[in-house]
Amino acid sequence: MNMNLKRQLPTPAEVKKMYPITKEMEEIKKERDIEIQKIFKGESNKFILIIGPCSADREDSVIDYIKRLRKVQDDKLIKEEIMIIPRIYTNKPRTTGEGYKGMLHQPNPLSDPDMLKGIIAIRKMHMRALLETGFSCADEMLYPENHSFLSDLLSYVAVGARSVENQQHRLVASGVGIPVGMKNPTSGDLSVMLNAIKAAEKKHTFIYRGYETDTPGNEYAHAILRGYVNHHGESHPNYHYEDLILLKNMYDNDSFLNPAVIIDTNHSNSGKKYEEQIRISKEVLHSCSYNEGIYKLIKGLMIESYIEDGCQKAEENIYGKSITDPCLGWEKTEKLIYEIAEYRVQIKNKHEKK
Ligand code: PEP
Ligand code: MN
Repeated sequence: MNMNLKRQLPTPAEVKKMYPITKEMEEIKKERDIEIQKIFKGESNKFILIIGPCSADREDSVIDYIKRLRKVQDDKLIKEEIMIIPRIYTNKPRTTGEGYKGMLHQPNPLSDPDMLKGIIAIRKMHMRALLETGFSCADEMLYPENHSFLSDLLSYVAVGARSVENQQHRLVASGVGIPVGMKNPTSGDLSVMLNAIKAAEKKHTFIYRGYETDTPGNEYAHAILRGYVNHHGESHPNYHYEDLILLKNMYDNDSFLNPAVIIDTNHSNSGKKYEEQIRISKEVLHSCSYNEGIYKLIKGLMIESYIEDGCQKAEENIYGKSITDPCLGWEKTEKLIYEIAEYRVQIKNKHEKK
């Protein structure tokens, strides 16, 4: 084996003991988990926004951004219509293996990887978000064995387009106890995504962190449409009305515990033209307005947003600007959240007050 096992790292239990959450933090997360689960079960018609930067590259600007989300969430209209789950994405899949792999690897994006510092940095950032803003957040479950470092803090995880066909991701998803969004793979094959959901819904026995482990199955596993890349490397969307009908039919022709879809408005859906996320959000809402079945199926949007518009190279070091995918800046984001909430009121009135 050609690996240098450099140093032994603390276990998740040890890290949780070093950086414990308070009873109050535990209560807030529990309450939010229940509210989010109600949405996936169809018992609440609030609309989920999983929103935040592509990668949470530095703590100060991420916490600043999430505090802005808190103010918006506390507005009367937003409170009634929208459930915000901030994206704090601390580990990034890379298409060619090159580039910034997230705060877990590089707590300082300009320095060499330091995995111990990384584990502590991501736990501290998620803890600050919960403690200072009352948000339990979303992260990508890129490395399933690392989920336990943050399991008492997260209210949502996504399995990325490059991981969704992987058995370990699917088995661990069956035991995390919070909603797991399964993205369509980069090829766009919807059956891979639905198979991942089916696998996550079931009970499993497997090896996890050196233990023989049983899981109960996850009734909140669901789909995320993120667009796809064709054989020529070109991005194609899959958020249009016809795509949603296609997925609805696939769900209807099979049996799933809680059919649900989140639309990722960036990535191959926008072709990373981040400003298109505004139009795409509204088009998805139009489909919800037009068709009651689609309204029931679509539980929310995933939006890449930060303080500044666009993206930069890490060396530029501009506060609040993405160093991975381009994001919608704060002013446009805030306006969009209000527009989404107003549109939701109209759509709910149309479908629910007949
Ligand atoms: C992301 O959400 O930033 C991401 C990497 O997504 P995907 O897995 O869809 O490429
Ligand atoms: Mn991204």
